[in-house]
Amino acid sequence: MVSGGQEDQPRQSPAAWDREADIVVVGAGATGLPAAIVAREAGCSVILVEAEPDIGGHAIISGGNVPLGGGTSVQKKYGIEDSPDLLFRDLTDWSVVGPNGFPDYRYNDREIVRAFAENSAPAFEWLVAHGVVFVDKAPDAVGGNSVGNSVPREMHCAVGHWPMAYNGEPADPSVQKTRSSGNGLMRSLEVAARKAGVEILLEHRLTSIHRQTLNSGRVLGIAADHKGSGLDIRARKAVIIGTGGSTGNVNFRRMFDPRLTEEYCGLAGMPWSDQDASGELAAMAVGASLWGFYNQVGEFGSNVTKPGSIGCQYNYRHLQWMPGSPIFERARATGLRVADWQNLILVNMLGKRFYDETAGQYIANNYNSVDPYVQGSYLNAKKLEWNPNNFLNAALAGIDDGHNGGGPIWAIFDSGAVEREHWLPAPPHIDIAVGFFFSANRLTDLADKIVMKYQRVPMPPANLEETVARYNSFVDTGVDADFAKPRPMYKIARPPFYAAWATPVVHDTRAGLRINAKCQVIDLNGNVIRGLYCGGESAGGFSQHGLARATCQGYIAGKAAAGL
Ligand SMILES: Cc1cc2nc3c(=O)[nH]c(=O)nc-3n(C[C@H](O)[C@H](O)[C@H](O)COP(=O)(O)OP(=O)(O)OC[C@H]3O[C@@H](n4cnc5c(N)ncnc54)[C@H](O)[C@@H]3O)c2cc1C
Repeated sequence: MVSGGQEDQPRQSPAAWDREADIVVVGAGATGLPAAIVAREAGCSVILVEAEPDIGGHAIISGGNVPLGGGTSVQKKYGIEDSPDLLFRDLTDWSVVGPNGFPDYRYNDREIVRAFAENSAPAFEWLVAHGVVFVDKAPDAVGGNSVGNSVPREMHCAVGHWPMAYNGEPADPSVQKTRSSGNGLMRSLEVAARKAGVEILLEHRLTSIHRQTLNSGRVLGIAADHKGSGLDIRARKAVIIGTGGSTGNVNFRRMFDPRLTEEYCGLAGMPWSDQDASGELAAMAVGASLWGFYNQVGEFGSNVTKPGSIGCQYNYRHLQWMPGSPIFERARATGLRVADWQNLILVNMLGKRFYDETAGQYIANNYNSVDPYVQGSYLNAKKLEWNPNNFLNAALAGIDDGHNGGGPIWAIFDSGAVEREHWLPAPPHIDIAVGFFFSANRLTDLADKIVMKYQRVPMPPANLEETVARYNSFVDTGVDADFAKPRPMYKIARPPFYAAWATPVVHDTRAGLRINAKCQVIDLNGNVIRGLYCGGESAGGFSQHGLARATCQGYIAGKAAAGL
């Protein structure tokens, strides 16, 4: 915790260290595992601390789509000509603008992207050499997010034979080499890390960083918490932060976007692992700077997303927790997957619609998004068709009462929708116990029942009744006079009626600690904090979703910290 109180300041070098290693890596995710292995194989002793009971972070539940390019062996195999220069220019191209008018790449730190471009193909070959199996096919554009326009770069990690986090079961043997998932990526790296001799300490949470003096000198190690007991771990050479970002920390994320108040509680990747800004806060407490704020609020990609399921807290569109998952007790419900947003209306806390329910979230630039694309050409922006995806902005707008945050968004539907969607509105599919799902035979009763932690004002029953009646009249006329939903299809008329949590989901962190080309953390005066490194979602300056950025920066940080 950062505060002005003397008692809260990070401790200086402890009188005695509980553990020590050359390098201490924090976070066993997409950044931390590569960093740890690289450093260990360079001859350093390495302790890797992980807050959760298992390794993997968000990476293990990810889709495993990895846009590493710049001339990988797979690109060459399929005749795709890429190079560090091409990749660099793609990822710093000022001229690419999305339909909401926001550029994906314009505000990227050139030094950081140059380092990524140079190390992208080597990091890919390194992953392969360390047991990561990629689906045997040509790179494509599936699942990418701000990955550049010139050539396809997206590759896909095979899911492998290990049980998967989301359901506790291995994938069917017939798809273990062809289905894309971060499961194969992270379990392969775990095997490689253990084989290399990385010591992995699970349930060890970084709480602060030791530095010679509060704002000067080199970093000496970390303080960690293990099941309520503190320990100090000395890092003779370096500490590498790979803690995965900050979107799970309400106050931290609101520095970038004040609208993201506490009701956005369904962070993608939770409850497997949090993104609580603990790495950023610990580094800031010893002088580190943050970097690249624009990338966190630009309206592109998946910083904030439309949910894919309703009626549960953790409703990210590409992840559904299943009862066999080792963490299902914490996830509590699978949610109801929405196949067709025509089957429901979405209302705010006051029971009022706010946008066309079928509308999408922000989109990201990717291969083929600009066609034809000419790197750095003013024509790319001129060709842009202004077509804002404002669903999320409307959902986050609030109710004009002086409060920040849009409040809960509720999906309202009837038994007809349940039939059409083949939903089973009962546990474990929905979370009634904690108030993410309600039902009643009358709409007015349904509104009255919506009482839960984030519904800070009661929903006026008359509002809900009026909203549904008006919507039903749109179904009769075939025209949504309020939000131009394409031909409203189904009335909400047959009880029971339902209200299911459908609040947007926070996901990516694209702003974080300031780093340089070697992933060294930089302080507020622009100086390197000696002995401190960072990569992945906890690092700022590079607006790209996910695994490529994290694995590559882990690779860079591991090498630099080991002195390679
Ligand atoms: C459902 C889902 C699907 C995704 N799909 C894709 C995809 O297909 N392609 C893609 O490119 N990206 C994808 N992503 C994003 C990608 O997984 C992340 O961007 C990537 O994992 C970030 O790597 P990281 O190392 O920064 O964080 P993580 O991989 O999340 O690792 C961070 C680790 O640090 C640990 N930690 C945090 N705080 C502490 C602390 N104080 N002390 C000790 N340990 C701590 C966490 O528990 C975690 O294990 C997806 C994400 C999700 C949630």
